[in-house]
Amino acid sequence: MNSTPFWGPDFDELAAEDPEIASIVLSELDRLRSGIQLIASENFTSPAVLAALGSTLSNKYAEGYPGKRYYDRAELIGIDRAKALFGADHANLQPHSGASANIAAYGAFVKPGETVMAMSLPHGGHLTHGSKVNFSGKWFNIVSYGVREDTELIDYDNVRALAREHRPKMIITGATAYPRLIDFAAFREIADEVGAILMVDAAHFIGLVAGQAIPSPVPYADVVTFTTHKVLRGPRGDMILCREEHASAIDKAVFPMMQGGPLMHAVAAKAVALKEAATQEYRDYAKQVIVNAQALSAGLAEEGMRPVSGGTDTHLALIDLQGIGLTGDIAEMRCDAARITLNKNSIPYDPQPPSKGSGIRVGTPAVTTQGMTEDDMAIIASLISRAVRDEDGTQAAAIADDVSALVTRHPAYPRG
Ligand SMILES: *Cc1c(COP(=O)(O)O)cnc(C)c1O
Repeated sequence: MNSTPFWGPDFDELAAEDPEIASIVLSELDRLRSGIQLIASENFTSPAVLAALGSTLSNKYAEGYPGKRYYDRAELIGIDRAKALFGADHANLQPHSGASANIAAYGAFVKPGETVMAMSLPHGGHLTHGSKVNFSGKWFNIVSYGVREDTELIDYDNVRALAREHRPKMIITGATAYPRLIDFAAFREIADEVGAILMVDAAHFIGLVAGQAIPSPVPYADVVTFTTHKVLRGPRGDMILCREEHASAIDKAVFPMMQGGPLMHAVAAKAVALKEAATQEYRDYAKQVIVNAQALSAGLAEEGMRPVSGGTDTHLALIDLQGIGLTGDIAEMRCDAARITLNKNSIPYDPQPPSKGSGIRVGTPAVTTQGMTEDDMAIIASLISRAVRDEDGTQAAAIADDVSALVTRHPAYPRG
């Protein structure tokens, strides 16, 4: 029995009414609990976030921006929390996802056909940074920059030279598979030199910024977009922060240009996640995420797998498997058979097509939420090493047993 007058998710109701969907929900929970989750963009949200997500706020149409309506208060509280946590002038909590927030950011600052500079996809950029199959590549003239072949770090000289040559209206930085810190001050300088807007797509690493574990892009960027469901550990969705001068352009680009009504249950859940992210506990978490990623990266290096750029400053490592003669797709499949979930990834200057990739990407947000530390990362590195080398699949069951032993010591969503 609930002690509060809350009306919310009752799993038994779902199981009775729709056993087919209920069993999918259960098997996904079982998968989360019984394996090691190293997808760098995933995390385990808290029960409080899940309760807000599963609440009757889902029913509410709240088109437009918050005013005096009682249900607007969740959004107003969330906006205040976001501004305080990130030291931002303005926050918009309404974007449904990272891709839709990025459409809004483009919409606020550039017109179709204009030039935008962003990180090339094979070097770690996101689909919305100019992929030919995405709105960004279809509607905008994209100039891509990348990393240097020798250091595997962003080539700032090349960024500056390309900006001078192409005079972009907007420069985007941020990536999905870049393990190092980004020099936001350098990007600001380049943007100022050519009169461009600086957009930081902080989807991957904003949780580390919230936890004060890495420097913030907010003082440097005109606009910062970020998903709320990665290291930040909130519900699926996105937020946009910007300077006061851009507040009205951003708000109009989110609604009514890009979206209709906001998902109020998700907005409320974002507010909850922002409250959690402002705690000392979360700051300790964010630091441990990085310590763990560094330990995992070093452990994999010891097993003969090379971390791209030599290591990581963040929550993820990109691992080059060429030294052990494997492609990413095979490694991903073998790990999966041993209940280790990670993804194949292209590495910079990859000789393999994206469908195979020479690397894997590993991230520590989820395992750190489970309470794992450096010693556990050493174990995971050796489990990955055994799994990727398991050519005929005969070891998968034994490795999965060891995976099981590890996650039993650090349960995700403990059984009641
Ligand atoms: C995850 C991510 C996004 C997109 O988020 P969705 O919610 O999947 O649309 C955008 N940009 C970057 C850099 C990301 O990592």
